[in-house]
Amino acid sequence: MSTNSKNDAAIDPNGNGKKQKQEKVQAKQVRNNNMLNEVKLRDNEVWNTIFSGKSKDGPMLSFGCQGCIKWFTRGICYNDCFFRASHKQLIGTDTNLYCGYVKKLRGE
Ligand SMILES: [Zn+2]
Repeated sequence: MSTNSKNDAAIDPNGNGKKQKQEKVQAKQVRNNNMLNEVKLRDNEVWNTIFSGKSKDGPMLSFGCQGCIKWFTRGICYNDCFFRASHKQLIGTDTNLYCGYVKKLRGE
């Protein structure tokens, strides 16, 4: 089992421990209405333990990025997602690549 290192945490340049204020644009929720059954979260699975944070370890897809695990297994993500280019339907070799990756995560 691998753990993900949180290397994307923002460092406060002022060092005063205060979180920097950022203009936050409300992210819009996007839904995958054509979820692939093969990678869809199953009733007996806990998303957090199996899939959380796993997008970046996935195979590079033809979208130009790794597949968004939230999008493909949960069917819900946001339009400010790092992997938003993959918020589409899997086609061709991407399907096999991604299904294989999800199988690996499931330990199958
Ligand atoms: Zn996403």
